[in-house]
Amino acid sequence: MSSKRIHGIVSVMMICVAFTLIICGYSRVIGRKVSGENIRYIIDAGHGIPDGGAVGVDGTTEQELNLAIALKLSTQLDQRSVAHMMTRTDENSIYSEGETIHAKKVSDVKNRISIANENSSIPLVSIHMNSYPNSSVHGIQVFYSDGNTQAKDLADLLQNSFNTAVQPENTKVTKAISKNVYLFSHVSNPSVLIECGFVSNSDELNKLKTEEYQQQLANLIADVLASCG
Ligand SMILES: [Zn+2]
Repeated sequence: MSSKRIHGIVSVMMICVAFTLIICGYSRVIGRKVSGENIRYIIDAGHGIPDGGAVGVDGTTEQELNLAIALKLSTQLDQRSVAHMMTRTDENSIYSEGETIHAKKVSDVKNRISIANENSSIPLVSIHMNSYPNSSVHGIQVFYSDGNTQAKDLADLLQNSFNTAVQPENTKVTKAISKNVYLFSHVSNPSVLIECGFVSNSDELNKLKTEEYQQQLANLIADVLASCG
């Protein structure tokens, strides 16, 4: 074969490999949105396809509720001129490699850790939903990175705001994030984890699915974040 012909075949093969990599998602750019300069917060909508997170009693996935609140929060922060970045802005998690669901989950968490570690002084605000076998358990609870005063103060402000405005009967208080939560045990950012409610409680889930309640939570979080720092 002439070297010209070999060159042609190699070129075609390289194009095929590149195309395959694109199809498999290897070239996917991490789906972060940066809004403004001098970023003050990293907003992290937990989970994302293929990881739906907790599943509600009616099949609603945690990842869609987390995203809905995080996107509303981002809009509210923009309105308050609070510069921030988002770890994800669509229904997909931010995996960048792997073909199995497990590999994608590992890649996703690594990418979130990278985003946090590249900006380790910036508070990380992670939005999640809770779930519990006893379906009567409900209420918002805010967790903070253990031993971090800035995170504890932020978590207390958020919890007080929720308890005052939307759940006066709630007696939940802030708690340190468990060392078993992989993401938070691998970042040093002042971090708060907002468990916005229990998808295992049908009344709370029905509220969490409404635009109004999502907006109310987003507004409360944005007010607290805008008032800090
Ligand atoms: Zn979660």
